[in-house]
Amino acid sequence: MPMPFLLFALAIAAPIRAQAARSIGPFEDEMVAAPVPDDEDEGDEADDGEEEVAEPGVTGPEIKYSADLPDDELERRWKDDLQSLGSISVGFADQGRLINAARMPLDDAWILERPSLAYGTKEAVDALINAFHAVRKQFPSSAPARLSHIGNQDGGYLRPHHSHQSGRDADIGFFYRNDRVPGRGVRRDRLMDPARNWALIRTLITGSDVQVILVDKGIQKVLRDWALANGEDRDFIDRVFAKGHHALIQHARHHKDHFHVRFYAPRSQELGRRVQPLLAQRPEQNLVMHKVRQGQTLGHIARAYDTTIKAIQIANHMRGSFLHLGQQLRIPLRKPCTHCPLPPPVVVPPRCLPASAVASASSQ
Ligand SMILES: [Zn+2]
Repeated sequence: MPMPFLLFALAIAAPIRAQAARSIGPFEDEMVAAPVPDDEDEGDEADDGEEEVAEPGVTGPEIKYSADLPDDELERRWKDDLQSLGSISVGFADQGRLINAARMPLDDAWILERPSLAYGTKEAVDALINAFHAVRKQFPSSAPARLSHIGNQDGGYLRPHHSHQSGRDADIGFFYRNDRVPGRGVRRDRLMDPARNWALIRTLITGSDVQVILVDKGIQKVLRDWALANGEDRDFIDRVFAKGHHALIQHARHHKDHFHVRFYAPRSQELGRRVQPLLAQRPEQNLVMHKVRQGQTLGHIARAYDTTIKAIQIANHMRGSFLHLGQQLRIPLRKPCTHCPLPPPVVVPPRCLPASAVASASSQ
């Protein structure tokens, strides 16, 4: 193609691409982060992975959040009335799946950018509904919040993410000043609307059980400064924006245009642990998630789990045998799983609340 014409073609193609990316999601930074087979490295996982080890001092399968279901009742319903158990989050955010997903409903206060990926645990869906309604109540003329990916109906691997597998992660687009969503590649820290974004984050943190929010540190700074300048208690803000490995809000690459929120889903997670020994009683649920490593083929994986290539292809809706490095496959098992990864018991920490809220709660 002659050079001038090529440039012209690129010039008209670019805005069309940008439009499409904005309207269908996922957010552009995550588009950039899409794993390319040769390029995806383990190091990326630090962005939104999940710790696979129990915290010190946490031991044993304590039943707290699903205590209404004694073991025999759980086993009976697992076999005969699976639906009645509600959402079940199996495994980890970055190596897991979802049973009986809750679907994010439709509402004026938000837009589902990917309705087919709007499935999560009941806890996560309820928390999102609550937070979006709270922002709408505070800012009645606001454009709707923009929810991108939560996860597949049955969870599991979702390109381009590492996590979003167990129904506890959600990507939420920023609110922008005058509701004008900027084009690709534009810096967002001065264009996003700190008032509504802070209202959203504040409600999520104080009104639900957030495990972590991933967002770029430049965005964090704008929110923090705005919150302090608008009367938030400094001690509360210092706790919300504390640094460190277990901080509530953490910096992550590729998070300059959206919040990635991971919720605790205590009941769903606890049920996920408790049904692990029961999986083999339902053949369609007798699955383990496997992460594809360098050099592995479907043949290797089928042999390692004593199953067949065909069974793996069917379980993963695969036509061919192409695998991505780091991809998570559902592996149908023929016998009870003896080495399935089991997350530690979930223990939801106290919520991060401003001093005024703590004082009023304790005086009641
Ligand atoms: Zn995400």
